[in-house]
Amino acid sequence: METAFRQLPSVDQLLGHPRVEYLCHLYPRQTVAIWVRGELEQARKGIAAGQRPPTSEELATGIEARAQALGEASLRPVINATGVVLHTNLGRAPVSYEALAAMRSVGLGYSNLEYDLAKGDRGSRHVHIEALLCHLTGAEAALAVNNNASAVLLGLASLARGKEVIVSRGQAIEIGGGFRIPDVLRQSGARLVEVGTTNRTYVSDYEAAITKGTAALLRVHTSNFQVVGFTHTVSLAEMVALGRRREVPVLDDLGSGCLLETAQFGMAHEPTIQESLEAGAALAFASGDKLMGGPQAGVIVGKKELVDRLRRHPLARAMRIDKFSLAGLAVTMVHYLRGEAVSKVPVWRMIATPLPEIERRAQSWVEQLGKVAKVVPGESAIGGGSLPGQTLPTRVVSLTVPRVDELAERLRAAEHPVIGRIAEDMLLLDPRTVLPEEEGALLFTLSEALSG
Ligand SMILES: *Cc1c(COP(=O)(O)O)cnc(C)c1O
Repeated sequence: METAFRQLPSVDQLLGHPRVEYLCHLYPRQTVAIWVRGELEQARKGIAAGQRPPTSEELATGIEARAQALGEASLRPVINATGVVLHTNLGRAPVSYEALAAMRSVGLGYSNLEYDLAKGDRGSRHVHIEALLCHLTGAEAALAVNNNASAVLLGLASLARGKEVIVSRGQAIEIGGGFRIPDVLRQSGARLVEVGTTNRTYVSDYEAAITKGTAALLRVHTSNFQVVGFTHTVSLAEMVALGRRREVPVLDDLGSGCLLETAQFGMAHEPTIQESLEAGAALAFASGDKLMGGPQAGVIVGKKELVDRLRRHPLARAMRIDKFSLAGLAVTMVHYLRGEAVSKVPVWRMIATPLPEIERRAQSWVEQLGKVAKVVPGESAIGGGSLPGQTLPTRVVSLTVPRVDELAERLRAAEHPVIGRIAEDMLLLDPRTVLPEEEGALLFTLSEALSG
């Protein structure tokens, strides 16, 4: 073992290794020396555990890996060929060019984020989005925060701390990523009063639960599952009618933040923010990066008096939207204002892509990939807590290879990773969620992985 230890190069010798020396051009020498010492330390532990001493080449590879792990961004683009338009693990909504351009220009320099250019004095970041959100949804007032989870928490903390909030048992749900309505209610300091049963809730259930301590009726859009069969839910309009009679506001957590009619694309109707306010919700909450198709954000719209209370709550400062999201969200809203959302906002463009167009793209991929590939009918999903169980007919490229898991692994390990879906030992790639400008990289990565 002693001789094995002595076979290890010294720190200086390793720093002189050509590959390690190259790293010294990219990072300060002291930083590289830390990685060298770490790698040598690991090698000594390995020897003590009975392993053979690594060669200098192996040590250099380990040192490069240490540099790469820290120095190269681990968050990077992937190509979403799953056909799930709002894939939470893949970053939800891609934003439009125009939205990204706005985020870029606000980030590269200074901005009037909180500066009133007319007065030459302090301004408010909220002015950049409020009028747009009001115009598009018909709201009296609007506020954007960091995400929808914080929007709901802010709403409940501002309006219901120390009081009761009534929710149907069928809506006391988990959205995903640990966002559970009962937990959020507890964190806000409100007390959850669950009414009805998992499958059936009636207006009379809400009515019987209202007391002097009731601060709100909360509706939660059951955005990621469906209860089918013997069910009864209370409509928002019915909740509002009850709320008016008993002077209790109705809060509506919509989740997906839909502003367009989804039925025009052959899907079920997804509740829109406009409808929610028209039905009389006092406040509606939505995500910026689901069907709104913008950057991560939480959108709160509704009665001015209530929005003002939220704005003044100390948590509003803790949850405030950042300048990048604000810039991107505002430009995304302008797409809706101009009536160009279906052609400009990527999630809507994907949803609206006609089947023949998808078929054409799938065919062109198959032509370049050869015999292993063929075009087959499939289903794209919306995902991201919108339109549960709803799919859009699509055409997918199916790849039949001996070891489909290994192919999927090679695609994930590529420079520009490609994520597909595996079904019945085939790898399925849906053109719907692949941006046209990603096609070159997709086909390159696929050809490499198929030949490798
Ligand atoms: C997605 C969702 C949330 C959470 O929104 P984030 O923007 O991810 O914080 C809350 N409520 C509902 C109903 C949702 O669908």
